[in-house]
Amino acid sequence: MSKPPRLAVIGHPVSHSASPRMHQPALDDAGVDASYIAIDVEPGKVREAFSKMQEEGYIGCNVTVPHKLEAMEICDELTDDAKALGATNTIVFREDGTILGHNTDGAGLSQAILEDFGKSLSELRILILGAGGGAGRAIATQCCREGAPAVYLSNRTIEKLEPIAIDLVDNHGGKLVTTLSTDTESLIEAASRVDLIINATSLGLKPSDPLPLPVEALLSRHMVYDAIYNPPVTPLLKAASEVGAKTSNGLSMLLHQGAFAFEAWFGIKPNLELMHKALLQK
Ligand code: NAP
Repeated sequence: MSKPPRLAVIGHPVSHSASPRMHQPALDDAGVDASYIAIDVEPGKVREAFSKMQEEGYIGCNVTVPHKLEAMEICDELTDDAKALGATNTIVFREDGTILGHNTDGAGLSQAILEDFGKSLSELRILILGAGGGAGRAIATQCCREGAPAVYLSNRTIEKLEPIAIDLVDNHGGKLVTTLSTDTESLIEAASRVDLIINATSLGLKPSDPLPLPVEALLSRHMVYDAIYNPPVTPLLKAASEVGAKTSNGLSMLLHQGAFAFEAWFGIKPNLELMHKALLQK
């Protein structure tokens, strides 16, 4: 007999989401009588979707684009991470009927960098490409919260960066926070001052995309993390490996944000190996 749906990812669109295939084996392994499904929810309909899930006895859900802000506004309580990152990606429907909003994206990125490069964000000077986007801002906030000694923010639309930089310094422990545009000279100069480069732009999703920074900016001592995981080797990661830099893709961030979400629902760690294996299968 099939298991009752009691967990889901909501988004719009959502059919591409890897979360169901990542979470189901972990649920099965932990002996949880629940299936994890994808639910397409139109913008403006998140409250309605939450009420329905609560009525149907859901444990919680994940929230993806474009609902991370809308979901946050509906929560009765937010974790410190959700407050700091200004969005929720994981929801817990509590037995008393209240809704708790978490954000595991920042912790997921942090764990990914630790496992992939053996370094903590607190010891790295970091350049974030696309820091004005949703993922980029969350990553920048996490870097500052963990005490990264220097954070360089770059974004095509540079106007987005000034308020973000001010927020990072005033509210999230940002030390040396520098904003820059996407011109060749600024990117080469900033890259020469950092250890870790993170691509949080959408450049690299398509094979025809240009690199998010000039190839001359890449150095053999760099660690280069691309938040994109499909394709697994973006043009940026290929160029970075060619100069001898260490590289990793966004699959590890996806995996660890999912593992932290599982912990938020059940208070136990999931079987990471099974989740990872499931993510590698298409
Ligand atoms: P978003 O909010 O739409 O932000 C997109 C970012 O990309 C913005 O900074 C945008 O700059 C920049 N950008 C878009 N087209 C560009 C171009 N042609 N040239 C230069 N910059 C460009 O999207 P998001 O949700 O933050 O996602 C960003 C990336 O992170 C996506 O590739 C997504 O797959 C990835 N991601 C991965 C994970 C994971 O778990 N691994 C989680 C979340 C997101 P402007 O501000 O100028 O528009």
